[in-house]
Amino acid sequence: MNADFKIAIIGSGPAGLSAAGHCAKLGIPHILLESQDHVADTIYKYQKGKHVMAEPAVLGLRSPVSFAAGSRESILNQWNLEVTSLGVQIQHHAEVVGVTGQIGGFQIELASSEIISAEHVVLAIGLQGNLRTLGVAGDHLPGIQYQLDNPEEYQNETIIVWVRATPRSRMRWLWPRPVTTSSCSTAMKSSPAARTAI
Ligand SMILES: Cc1cc2nc3c(=O)[nH]c(=O)nc-3n(C[C@H](O)[C@H](O)[C@H](O)COP(=O)(O)OP(=O)(O)OC[C@H]3O[C@@H](n4cnc5c(N)ncnc54)[C@H](O)[C@@H]3O)c2cc1C
Repeated sequence: MNADFKIAIIGSGPAGLSAAGHCAKLGIPHILLESQDHVADTIYKYQKGKHVMAEPAVLGLRSPVSFAAGSRESILNQWNLEVTSLGVQIQHHAEVVGVTGQIGGFQIELASSEIISAEHVVLAIGLQGNLRTLGVAGDHLPGIQYQLDNPEEYQNETIIVWVRATPRSRMRWLWPRPVTTSSCSTAMKSSPAARTAI
């Protein structure tokens, strides 16, 4: 084998963990590339304490990495234990920015410019990157965020939750009470603590 690894798996969500778990169990030289410093970033970013459902219950689980309904925290803890116990070879901070080549010889380029080679590639990057942003100038300014993970982080803050709920892009102001866009931008300018989740 000339390549660094037989199989490179990109993304350590449930799909990537499952593929890497199989490789580890079968003794196949593999690398699990994860852009973040933790596994399963989509689930990591679920709101605190979220009860994760395991539906449909009849779907046979073939992965050596277990999955049962439970809290986000318990599932992530379990996966971290199993990554270690199965001997999954994982590289964190490994954001893949390009893949070239063909079966038997792929080159995988990381954001750090490191090149990893593998005979086969499993793409397991999920859909998390497709966040629906507001699509206006300034929609990534500090103080604007697209997730509300932990309600405790917002205690004593003034926040505005903005939901684009309808196909016709009609805005609904949910909390703390209806405000106009001009009062919103004034609040954002005047209060560094004000945050908008969209
Ligand atoms: C808010 C929310 C709640 C949900 N609740 C449930 C639920 O209760 N029950 C349920 O069964 N499902 C739920 N889902 C769906 C479930 O999370 C997804 O189906 C599942 O996470 C998909 O797994 P995946 O492995 O395909 O991708 P993901 O879990 O999205 O994992 C992709 C991984 O790839 C990494 N990655 C992405 N791009 C790169 C790159 N270029 N280089 C390296 N790494 C990269 C990411 O960091 C991430 O770790 C929910 C989803 C959301 C968003």
